[in-house]
Amino acid sequence: METYNFSAGPACLPERVLAAAGEAAKQFRDTGMSLMEMSHRSKPVVSLFEETTERITGLLAIPSNYHVLWLQGGASTQFSMVPLNVLPDGGCADYINTGAWSTKAIAECNKIGKANVIGSSRENTYTYIPKECVQNTESSYLHITSNNTIYGTQYKVIPEVVNRDGFLVADMSSDILSKPIDVSQFGLIYAGAQKNMGPAGVTLVIIRKDLVGANYRTLPTMMDYETHVAKDSMFNTPPVFAVFVVNETLKWIEDLGGLEAMAVINEQKAKKLYLEIERNSLFKSPIAVDDRSLMNIPFVFSESGLEDHDFLSFCEEQGLMTLKGHRSVGGFRASIYNAMPEEGVDALIRAMQEYEKEQA
Ligand SMILES: *Cc1c(COP(=O)(O)O)cnc(C)c1O
Repeated sequence: METYNFSAGPACLPERVLAAAGEAAKQFRDTGMSLMEMSHRSKPVVSLFEETTERITGLLAIPSNYHVLWLQGGASTQFSMVPLNVLPDGGCADYINTGAWSTKAIAECNKIGKANVIGSSRENTYTYIPKECVQNTESSYLHITSNNTIYGTQYKVIPEVVNRDGFLVADMSSDILSKPIDVSQFGLIYAGAQKNMGPAGVTLVIIRKDLVGANYRTLPTMMDYETHVAKDSMFNTPPVFAVFVVNETLKWIEDLGGLEAMAVINEQKAKKLYLEIERNSLFKSPIAVDDRSLMNIPFVFSESGLEDHDFLSFCEEQGLMTLKGHRSVGGFRASIYNAMPEEGVDALIRAMQEYEKEQA
């Protein structure tokens, strides 16, 4: 029986990528050594980093006035690194609170300067994306979470920054590489790898060159973007194996036809699943129609009296794993990132239909 992993993160990876990871764990590119044993100063590993950066630059069409960094510490470290590096002393920034991750980003900004929360859907359990938020003219940047992994909302239109000197910062951990984006709309993008790019352990940062080196405060060396820019993400021992897996994932996306093709597949998968949630008498989506995520799809029973765990074990018997909703929301959540094949979505839809019959 085929198993499909609907986990929100670490999430499933393409078969082909896992096979390549298995090979590289044994021997990397005819070196006779495992990639995990190799120095980051060695020629093959330096080339691997250059290749990975080149690939993501191509796929996302990253303009030449941006740096690409491969860092550690997850998106959570970026919650503090962003304000530490780009928020002037005594300055403020605007944040839109669309969920648990935004909330954490706001808390970290408030330790360094002031976060103005200019929009929040917290009172409605984050079931929609607040729009028409009034930005502050004195704010240095506007921070958004482009896709909200836990609640299943996603920005369909990226807000414009009104402040002429201001810029947009986005946490794209759970929808990076799911569709083409216009990088020039952003001053800084960050994303942990383990949702849509690779394994945990590496974090992508794309930062406009003029935002590096402002020196607003004395920073610990590792917290300073300039350190990592100066050393091509190799100031300290980088997560080489994780970067290798990201590179393999990027190759896989290229072979599918790039991000335009990826977006078509993602839209197709999500559309099917939302249609079934709407059609099926047992389930409903709590999320505002216009803001529904193509990556994380939460759904709940439309009536009380049914037990979540019963449907979850029904799914597990059919190889459909990790469908439990986040503990703060309950119900179910199907994370259908790039690597979830359409057959996995089809199998889930069949299970929902069979369960409906069984309950009738
Ligand atoms: C998972 C996630 C994070 C946290 O990532 P870590 O790598 O665990 O720090 C932050 N933001 C979003 C949107 C996420 O999905």
